[in-house]
Amino acid sequence: MKPAHATELARRIRRRLERERADLVDFASELIRVPTENPPGEGYGSCAARIAERSRDLGLEVQRVDPSGAGPCVAATFGAGGRALYFSGHYDVVPAQDRSQFEPAVRKGHLHGRGAADMKGGIAAMAFAARALASSGFEPKGRLVCVSVPDEETSGPRGTVALAETGWIERDAVGMLTMEPTSGVVWSANRGVISMRVTVHGKPAHVGLHFRGVNAFRGMLTVAGLFAELESRVSERRTELAIAPAAARRSVLLLGGELAGGHSFNVVPDRVSFTLDRRTNPEEDFDAERDALYRVVEEARARGVSCDVELLQEGRSAATDPEGALGRALASGIRDVTGRSARFELCPGVLETRHYAALGIPALAYGPGLLSVSHGPNELVSVDRLLECAEVYASTAMRLLS
Ligand SMILES: [Zn+2]
Repeated sequence: MKPAHATELARRIRRRLERERADLVDFASELIRVPTENPPGEGYGSCAARIAERSRDLGLEVQRVDPSGAGPCVAATFGAGGRALYFSGHYDVVPAQDRSQFEPAVRKGHLHGRGAADMKGGIAAMAFAARALASSGFEPKGRLVCVSVPDEETSGPRGTVALAETGWIERDAVGMLTMEPTSGVVWSANRGVISMRVTVHGKPAHVGLHFRGVNAFRGMLTVAGLFAELESRVSERRTELAIAPAAARRSVLLLGGELAGGHSFNVVPDRVSFTLDRRTNPEEDFDAERDALYRVVEEARARGVSCDVELLQEGRSAATDPEGALGRALASGIRDVTGRSARFELCPGVLETRHYAALGIPALAYGPGLLSVSHGPNELVSVDRLLECAEVYASTAMRLLS
């Protein structure tokens, strides 16, 4: 594409988005009104239907994808043939602190409501980016596929996991971009996660007959002590990837997030449990780190502790090279639209980019929201940022599909 032509297209896209500001906010608001709280994971069908209908109204080719038979995903496509570029947004939200969070409102330039930032605002922005591209006269080489999925907040099976497992995601895709609330930076990598609950078993007895019991708390001291030793070794490791502040670079093993056990001060406890949450840096060998956790449990058993382990969640770390085609296109889009240079950082949590990265597809996160408000009682997103990000998405797609 000639530079002059590209500049003219960019101008048309900006004008188009400016004109559609109210419609974009209206789309996001309509999605916020559907309480897609996860857990438990409800309202999915109704939210997916609204996304499908709205996307069709925007002139996109809509396909309902239901790979698991239970999880309605929506794909809204601009363009035909060639390779796919995926934009991906999740429409499930964390539970609200207050039902009024499902009544969206615009105040002082911000859209308020559960999901405004994480990430129904992003879903609206990606759809309007595709629409702006289409109406600007841009002819893509390949397809821009806007995917809306449920089940992200609990790493559930009905969204991206199902799309990946059923082979719906095309392995030769140009890339994937997700609209997570990245607070202005680009997340190019995420940590791995292994969360488990360890339960120590004993035998109850009255304190007067304590010798007839087996104290599960004493067993927990042994196994938790071994994990604490592992924790001090793990926290010495630091990632080389950018993440602030410096303390956030340490590899993580959080012990005792959830504790339970015992019946009464005068009864030998027969059952004590605690959770651990291991977050591996992308440089660490995920399988080796998982093995290290199970070895601790084996060691405790060898010392006579009766215990078992329940796996709560598991997800691999992933990293995409910021210098690849996707990273360079996004960085150029950010620079052209916002005037700022892109900063690539390690995400402090897990990201669905990992499911695409596992298929060899470059995947990055960049969205309009702030992480600090995303799961809180005052979730909001700047309307200017919604528009700005829509423009960045359109600009990125234009570069990759030219
Ligand atoms: Zn999210």
